[in-house]
Amino acid sequence: MDYVIEPPVAPAVAVEGGGVFPLRRVFCVGRNYLEHVREMGNDEKAPPFFFMKPADAVVPGTAGAEVPYPPQTSDLHHEIELAVAIGRGGRRISAGDALAHVWGAGAAVDLTRRDLQGAAKAAGRPWDMGKGFDASAPIAPLRRVAQAGSLVQGRIWLAVNGTLRQEGNLAEMIWPVTDIIAFLSQSVALAPGDLILTGTPAGVGPVGPGDRITGGVDGLPELDLRIAPPV
Ligand code: MN
Repeated sequence: MDYVIEPPVAPAVAVEGGGVFPLRRVFCVGRNYLEHVREMGNDEKAPPFFFMKPADAVVPGTAGAEVPYPPQTSDLHHEIELAVAIGRGGRRISAGDALAHVWGAGAAVDLTRRDLQGAAKAAGRPWDMGKGFDASAPIAPLRRVAQAGSLVQGRIWLAVNGTLRQEGNLAEMIWPVTDIIAFLSQSVALAPGDLILTGTPAGVGPVGPGDRITGGVDGLPELDLRIAPPV
């Protein structure tokens, strides 16, 4: 059979005020706030580790955006996170130089199929199907770094149907943004278009179809989305 292969849609994030930031890769940090490390029963002193989501898992997370409840789970969790967008690449970036590589920042949710992630952990298998599913990274528009608040201090929060579920401060990160960029660029050459989700504070929990998620990070545009029925 003959058919035409359509070119894929280029992944991108909306930018506040118009335009888009083209996405290359999405890196996520595990266990970066002490209280969340404790609520998950993990080692408090471990160095940062990373997992990835596909770039097209990033979807709009504002103005009443709808994110479908994903398949194969009965325990979908919210994790509010500061996301930083890399505008200038580099290898072995020092923590002191790290912020010069950041183009902008946004508030994101690391949606997690906690039951699949738990089963993968128990079996010593990769987290991809627990973390990297379709539409698993809703994000609010990016704000340019010069207009954004401090990326190392400020309130970070998430509410479900108006009830506060997660609240913390960027200053509680075990590894601040600058250290994360330094660590990650030891392992890979960072490039323009890379997005880094920097971990979540305590209070993660389940959401279901019909739930409204609002959230934010001081100095950045707010998230506002609804979990829609499964497709
Ligand atoms: Mn996370």
